[in-house]
Amino acid sequence: MFDVIIIGLGPAGSTLARLLSDKKVLCVDKKTSVPGGFEKPCGGLLAPDAQKALARFELTLPKSVLVDPQLFSVRTLDLASGLTRHYQRFYVNMDRNKFDRWLISLIPPQVERLEGARVTKLARQADGTFAVTICQDGRERTEYAKRLVGADGADSLVRRTFFPKHQVRWYVAVQQWFKEAHESPFYSCIFDPSQTDCYSWSVSKDGYFIFGGAYPPDGCRARFERQKEALSKEGFRFGKAVKTEACRVLRPAGWKDFCLGEKGVFLIGEAAGFISPSSLEGISSAFISARRLAASLEEEPSPREHCRYARDCLGLRLKLWLKLFKCPFLYMPFLRKWVMKSGINSIGIIR
Ligand SMILES: Cc1cc2nc3c(=O)[nH]c(=O)nc-3n(C[C@H](O)[C@H](O)[C@H](O)COP(=O)(O)OP(=O)(O)OC[C@H]3O[C@@H](n4cnc5c(N)ncnc54)[C@H](O)[C@@H]3O)c2cc1C
Repeated sequence: MFDVIIIGLGPAGSTLARLLSDKKVLCVDKKTSVPGGFEKPCGGLLAPDAQKALARFELTLPKSVLVDPQLFSVRTLDLASGLTRHYQRFYVNMDRNKFDRWLISLIPPQVERLEGARVTKLARQADGTFAVTICQDGRERTEYAKRLVGADGADSLVRRTFFPKHQVRWYVAVQQWFKEAHESPFYSCIFDPSQTDCYSWSVSKDGYFIFGGAYPPDGCRARFERQKEALSKEGFRFGKAVKTEACRVLRPAGWKDFCLGEKGVFLIGEAAGFISPSSLEGISSAFISARRLAASLEEEPSPREHCRYARDCLGLRLKLWLKLFKCPFLYMPFLRKWVMKSGINSIGIIR
């Protein structure tokens, strides 16, 4: 019987596993370190809030997770109005897969880890503990725990199993990798209301040019292709895709979209709906919620743990909820046009 089983070893799960080394913990992730195995589709940009969270843990980023080039600005294109502006940014450009592997490497050896293992079924037993069915190398096994943590991202099995009525607004993120063909690598952010009410991005990484976007599920791939066509006319060079990836991405639309769990089931990171609705930045929230939950868990399971976790996450929920008020200025065409036209906070480019 484990004290805690953590499902998912993204930034949220691996951080919690690192912080819970005094408990009997099992963590399970379907990812493997084998090339070509599951990799999280991501822009791989570490935002200042995530950098601050790492600083709080007194962690420094190894050079091995960084990619070339490091970027200082975002080129913002509004395809509806034809406006382009540049804004200063303070992101760290990194290899997301290497970043996840580095976070996993920080988990102390006493924490049991199953990688390349998919959780297929979850059940609460009569005594309140949990049975977790895990499939690894074609074999099935069941492990038992007093508490369950869903750190399993946007399409969380834990959330779907225990909180099926809890629906969060979601999009399909589609990303393609191309050999870099631009003279000068860049990072861009694209608003194109004809294809999505969210946004798209491009970023250069180690000789590759990545283009991706978050689209309403209906016709997402066709929307992606139409956007590529439109951007080709703006000077974007795509060529032949080296890799195509897609996944669900959450975009909370209100306070009720955050789901922290109850009765021994906890949700952290994107599984809890903790992701910025304005920028889709989620790594910092994964770190913060993992830290908050680690501090809330006591020796033995008790309802107090849930109260404390909910209370300690109030600041995070408030921060993400307040970002909803920023959304109209980014996503309502006339307000965005007005902001971009005004040039507020933009930087002039000298050629
Ligand atoms: C295309 C895209 C680009 C993004 N770009 C950025 C960015 O540049 N910067 C940023 O801060 N955020 C970005 N985000 C958001 C960010 O990636 C997520 O919010 C963040 O990864 C959430 O961390 P997490 O640990 O909660 O979940 P995840 O990182 O999604 O990790 C979940 C883990 O659970 C595992 N898992 C899931 N189901 C199971 C199962 N049944 N059994 C076993 N294991 C399971 C998965 O293998 C995965 O490792 C982006 C998201 C997308 C989709």
